[in-house]
Amino acid sequence: MIDHFHRNEKSTLNPLQSKIPAMIGFLLLISLVLSPYLAAKPGSHNKKREYVVNKSDEQWRNELTPEQYRILRQKGTERAFTGKYYKTKTPGVYLCAACGNELFSSEHKYDSGSGWPSFYKPIEDQKVEQEVDNSLFVKRTEVLCKRCGSHLGHVFDDGPKPTGKRFCINSECLRLKPEQNNDEE
Ligand SMILES: [Zn+2]
Repeated sequence: MIDHFHRNEKSTLNPLQSKIPAMIGFLLLISLVLSPYLAAKPGSHNKKREYVVNKSDEQWRNELTPEQYRILRQKGTERAFTGKYYKTKTPGVYLCAACGNELFSSEHKYDSGSGWPSFYKPIEDQKVEQEVDNSLFVKRTEVLCKRCGSHLGHVFDDGPKPTGKRFCINSECLRLKPEQNNDEE
């Protein structure tokens, strides 16, 4: 009892205060470990909203390739420099790979060096919607198809003039309709 008493007397922090840094560290670690799961929870995709194209998770899974499903419906990201459109300069319109909505024009496409197709604006503002991405620690703005709610990529503020925006979009989420004919590239 005496030892215990003396120890308490010497300490400048009470026992709870001294544990706070360790508790914060522990919570940060847990958040880091869980963040990929929190960011992409299967089946919970934008259930709060109704879209013009409104399909069940099962329908999307059947219609899309596994990679498209992972990116479009589970907010995934393709690896940089692996998509089929990041270097493409063919004139045409980029459609939503999930619903065919016209999203981006080759006129607004530029080489950002990021390894993903990059546009400084959508073909029309109302074709896409933007939403703050709640992934922990990094605040980003997510870009979604306004017609079907599918995830497309993110928008950043380091784009070229005139908008200063960089719409960084996954190739898997796009289907190019070339200008000259209706064949897919
Ligand atoms: Zn769509």
